[in-house]
Amino acid sequence: MNWKQELEDHYEEREAYALYRMVMEERFGLSHTDILLGKDSQISEEKQEQLKEILERLKKFEPIQYILGFADFYGHRFSVAPGVLIPRPETEELVKTVISLAGDRVPAQTQILDIGTGSGCIAISLALEGYKLSAMDISEDALSIATKNASNLGAEISFIHENILHPSPCSDKWDIIVSNPPYVCASEANNMRFNVLMHEPHIALFVPDSDPLIFYRAIVSYALSHLNPGGWICLEINQAFPDKIKQLLTSFGFKDPIIINDQYGKNRIAYAQL
Ligand code: GLN
Repeated sequence: MNWKQELEDHYEEREAYALYRMVMEERFGLSHTDILLGKDSQISEEKQEQLKEILERLKKFEPIQYILGFADFYGHRFSVAPGVLIPRPETEELVKTVISLAGDRVPAQTQILDIGTGSGCIAISLALEGYKLSAMDISEDALSIATKNASNLGAEISFIHENILHPSPCSDKWDIIVSNPPYVCASEANNMRFNVLMHEPHIALFVPDSDPLIFYRAIVSYALSHLNPGGWICLEINQAFPDKIKQLLTSFGFKDPIIINDQYGKNRIAYAQL
């Protein structure tokens, strides 16, 4: 089977090879060198059938992470399925920012809440650094994937099933609240890649154009009553709204919000102290 022909009608040459290489490595244990030596054309008929199925799925722009069932994030391997957003490299910056905000607090005594945990990638990565984590999501599907990830990776997390837009009363307090909520405007959908738009959960991605900060308002308001004094809020944001998010934080009484860029130079993280 000519994978090049199959994939290059749908992907750029480099991406097509990257996908093929990943499938060979993860599914069939063949390295880049093995491919150069032509070992990929010697795989069994059964494996060829599997490969054919995978190529068909890739041609429909199904994300490779859903096909293989995992995504790597912050040095850990997370199970992913269509019920959760695939962890993004830029979200690793959020984890790093939270760690730097925790500063010299003792990790085992630092309580962190992750709102909208999805696959659990943020919460679990932080828990594996020694912090005390709670993780919230509205989606039971997401919570079950996150619970499985926590147990596979040996992270202890307290999971909370909750809709942040209508939270139930709770007297718990945290030192840091982190979130990567849905922030893509419905009108931005036409600029999105097919693999994201057609396969990732819209509930984790989109907000109405009429109220793009809906989750930020809810999270910031929740943080106001659930952060310990001197606590931090740390949010992944839509690059188009840094000033509006800063204003929002200030209007709720957070001090001197800071925006930082991701590795692509886009406004991506907002943080502030109570
Ligand atoms: N950064 C993601 C994307 O561009 C969106 C993540 C989110 O909505 N929180 O697909």
